[in-house]
This record gives sequence, structure tokens and C-alpha cells, in this order.
Amino acid sequence: MKIVIAQMKHETNTFSPVPTPLTRFGRGGLGPLEGDAALKAFRGTGTGIGAMIDAASAAGAEIVLPIAANAAPSAPCSDATYEYIASRICDAVAAGCDAVLLDLHGAMVTESLEDGEGELLRRLRKIAPQVPIGLALDMHTNLYPAMAEYASVVAGYQTYPHVDMYQTGMRAAQPILAMLAGKSNPVIAWGQRPMIPHVMRQASDDLPNRVLQSRAQAMEREGALAASLFVGFPHADIMQAGLSAVVVTDGDPALARRLCDELLDAAWAARSDFIYRLEPLEDSLVRARQLSISAPGSGPIVLLDHYDNCASGGTMDTMTVLERIIEAELDNVAAFAICDPWAVQQMIAAGIGASLTLPLGGKLDMPAIGRSGRPLTLTGRVKLVSEGVYLNRGPMARGERTDMGHSVVFDTGRVEIAVISRHVEPHDIACLRTLGIDPSEKAFLMLKSRIHWRAGLKQVARAVVECAGEGVCTSDYSTLRFERLRRPIYPLDPMP
Ligand SMILES: [Zn+2]
Repeated sequence: MKIVIAQMKHETNTFSPVPTPLTRFGRGGLGPLEGDAALKAFRGTGTGIGAMIDAASAAGAEIVLPIAANAAPSAPCSDATYEYIASRICDAVAAGCDAVLLDLHGAMVTESLEDGEGELLRRLRKIAPQVPIGLALDMHTNLYPAMAEYASVVAGYQTYPHVDMYQTGMRAAQPILAMLAGKSNPVIAWGQRPMIPHVMRQASDDLPNRVLQSRAQAMEREGALAASLFVGFPHADIMQAGLSAVVVTDGDPALARRLCDELLDAAWAARSDFIYRLEPLEDSLVRARQLSISAPGSGPIVLLDHYDNCASGGTMDTMTVLERIIEAELDNVAAFAICDPWAVQQMIAAGIGASLTLPLGGKLDMPAIGRSGRPLTLTGRVKLVSEGVYLNRGPMARGERTDMGHSVVFDTGRVEIAVISRHVEPHDIACLRTLGIDPSEKAFLMLKSRIHWRAGLKQVARAVVECAGEGVCTSDYSTLRFERLRRPIYPLDPMP
């Protein structure tokens, strides 16, 4: 038995100015891993593709792994990049196999395509009309019909932060293996509702998504092969951005339809609970200072710079929130991170212990939201220089190697700023520990993140204050110009 396993992951922010070359699809800017190198890198990791490798190995299958391509979110990827990745997968399937397991994101836009994954599936079905295909998808999938119609099994993350990548890979793989053994007959129902839930309200430990995802999990305990509610990725001006669901049952299309509609109806009924209410940045900082005095417990007050999350296409170099923190003279602060490879090189050239003044961040313009890059000139001391490489401790993507590129801790006296060379969202405590920062000893911790920081850092936080800064993953959706998104859609338009 031969199984083709591959990864093609990109969450495309169509408002992002961050380019998406092929080199971005692998750690260290070296591009995707292929063949044995990919197998070695992902075997034993807590990832979707890691689970697929484990499941296929346990079934005694021969594994063919043509490519593992995973890029941090950014602008639509070039056609040439897409064609390279897709053709590696298609060629492997064309060589013959018994099944295909794909670890995809489900929100990949290219220069020419709104649904990169749907097009991949369409091509695979032409090559191998009957071969079982299992998909693991991110909860931020923007579902297009081809994904559900051409796949045999679809399983999406049921947690946000995504701490169930491995389980999702298994939920995609096991029904496919059962199918090969003649023990299951997966049938799919899918659907959408005209709504774009706000990202800041999508966490699966908050309402309403906690209840919605636990219902999907219950459906699987009650016999569905996979039940997935996708909250969607709103920073994509494409027709099908928004909420959707897919339910797979064993040979019972009516049940799949009923369960899928139940998830969609429950989400639609809760639509007003997905609305996020903004707080002016000035008020947030006043509140943060008050909390540092009054909040019980120990550990830092987390200041969440949620408009500039690189794991949603943010440039990770807008300086608004950090500037206000410095102006407010908050003390004993750590900030993760400003991605500015130029500044890192200046600091490394100056050397550990050197003091210097330089324009930090603000290197990328953001034309889609009408903003220019605006650096902040700061004076500080180079406290630490690092290669910037670590293994995730988990629970998210446990064991996966992460590469921030050359990294520096720049100490302004009150604030220790992590300055890094590649986009890495702080979802794992190792990103700070690698740079010699113990977050539990800080009074404030500024993070460029939205929900994923909770995976590895929530346990050290005394309280959290969401800070409305600046960036292409803005939480003020009224500033995004949607031209291709289907309308009307809640809450952008009045809905009956
Ligand atoms: Zn996601």
C-alpha cells in the first residue's frame, strides 16, 4: 500500500504587503522540504503532517512525501510558486498510489486563483478520479466548493489556538485508512452562512466558539467520521471568505446534511456574539497601568498588539503600540517582536553591550490600508544576540523547529525589545526563553498576536489588555476595502 502525504499551507491576507516567494514555504527562508528531508523533519512532531506520517506508518504503508510547504501568512503567492508546489504533489500522485493525505490550510490565494486548494484537488481528481483523498484543514479555512466536493474526507481544527493539529491529521487519516481496508464509506456534506466572525472573538476557549466546537466534537463521539466548523479568515477579499462547515459520515448522506446544517444554524444564531468591540489605544494603556497595580496574582499584564500579527499577514513591524508603551513610561516591559532584519544587522555590527540610536521597524508600506511604514527612532543597548532557532515546546506544533533568523534583544532601559529577522508569532514560550527573557519576571509583555499567544503564554499572564495599533490584520474591519467578497454578509451589511 502506497500513500502520498504532502503539505501545502498558506493563509493568504490579500491586504498584506508581505511577499510570498517559494523560499517563504520553509523554515530559515530555504523553501519547502522535499522527500526524505521532509519526512525526517516532520516525523514525530505534533503537526497535521506528523500525524499523517504516524497513521500511514502504523498501517504499514509505503510513504511518498513529495513536498512539505508551509509559509507564514502573507500576500497572495506567485503563480510560479503555486505551480511548483502543486506540480510536485500532482506528479507524486500520477506515479501511482492507493491514497492521498494532504495537510492544507484552506485559505490559499494566488495571483490567479482564489482557492489554491480547490484547484489542487481538481487537478488531483483528473489524475486519480477514484483514489481516496483526506484533507486536514485549519479552522481559518475559507471553504470553496471544490475542496469539499473532490475530497473523500475533510477534518478541520477544532481548537483556536490550534493545539489539535496532530489530532486533526489523525481525524483526516483514519477514515481514509478505514476506507482502504473496506471498513468505511465516507460521505460529505458542506455548507456556508453569510457571515465573517471577528478573529478576536473566535477563540475556542471563549463563547460562542467553545460551544460550537464542542458540539462538533460531540458529533464525532456520536458517530460522525469528522465534523468541522470553520470560522474563516476575514482578511481575504475573496468571494467565499467566512464561516462554513463540513461533516463526514459513514455512508449516511442525510445524517451528514443534518449535522452540517445544525452546526451552521448554531453559528448563525450566535452571530452577534462574534462581534468585537474596539477600545481606543489610550484607554487600553490606562487600563493596563491600573491592572498592574490592582490585578491579583503574579506575572505580566499582556499588551496584545493585535492589528499586526504576522501569523495573519501582518508586517510585524508597525510601531504604534510600542511607541505608546514607551511614551507612557511603562517599566519592566518585554516586547515580542519587531521583525526588522536591517536593524538586527546594525545591532550585530555594533556588538553586544554597544549603545546605538536607530530607526526601528516601519520598513514596509501598507497600501491596502492607506498607510506608509513609519519607523520609530530609539536609543538602546544591544543586550543579547542569538541565532534565533528553537524547538516548539508546545502545546501548539510541539517539536517543530522554528527559525526567527538572527535575533537581538534591544534594551531601552524600560523595555526589552526582541528584534528578529523572520516572521514568527509568539505562541510558544521558547521564543522568549531563547532570547533570555523570562516573561514571568516582567510587569508587562507586549505581544504581536491575537489568539495563538494563549497556547504557550496564557499561563504566565496575570491579565490581558487588547491594544488597537496599526496593521493589515486590523480589527477595525470598516477600514478594509472588500471588492470581491460576496455580499450581503454579516456584520458588514444589514441582514434580515
Ligand atoms: Zn488558523
